[in-house]
Amino acid sequence: MGTDELYNFVFKVVLIGESGVGKSNLLSRFTKNEFNHESRTTIGVEFSTRTVQMENYTIKAQIWDTAGLERYRAITSAYYRGAVGALLVYDVSKHLTYESADRWLKELLDHADPHIVVMLVGNKTDLENLRTVPLVEAKDFAEKRGLMYMETSALDSTNVEHAFNEVLTAIHKKVASREV
Ligand code: GDP
Repeated sequence: MGTDELYNFVFKVVLIGESGVGKSNLLSRFTKNEFNHESRTTIGVEFSTRTVQMENYTIKAQIWDTAGLERYRAITSAYYRGAVGALLVYDVSKHLTYESADRWLKELLDHADPHIVVMLVGNKTDLENLRTVPLVEAKDFAEKRGLMYMETSALDSTNVEHAFNEVLTAIHKKVASREV
């Protein structure tokens, strides 16, 4: 950490969901404003950070990506340790990736802090003509499980900032209320 990099909180946020739904691209869009058309082959957990300002606080968002391990169901408990937020991502054009959301949620709740902030994220809204998961269905699913919900496109940037910022704001509210 450089001496010029001062912050009040570090929030660890994990990305989970099936392989190919766009987790790495949501991460690179949010932290570097970059998008990669090729699927990555890197194996191993990694994270990127971005510093955001919230009220009087500077928050360092440390966003973790499974970096391919999810396809082997090889995510370890270290991945979830200390996480205060999670984006459970599916692809709006691939119904199977949505159907596995409950399994990911269970895995998350088995390993993470029960107070973790979770947002269900339907990515790839730019593929509207290929959509197989109706927005209302996913929204209803999220509401029933007490999750936040957002649809995004890492390709055209729709709602990417919004999704991460909503999660960070919700975490910040929880942290602030616990301080009182
Ligand atoms: P991950 O395996 O969940 O990390 O998914 P990636 O970020 O590697 O993306 C998988 C593939 O989907 C890549 O070919 C990306 O270019 C593509 N992709 C990711 N996000 C979007 C999106 O919002 N729209 C479209 N059309 N393609 C996307």
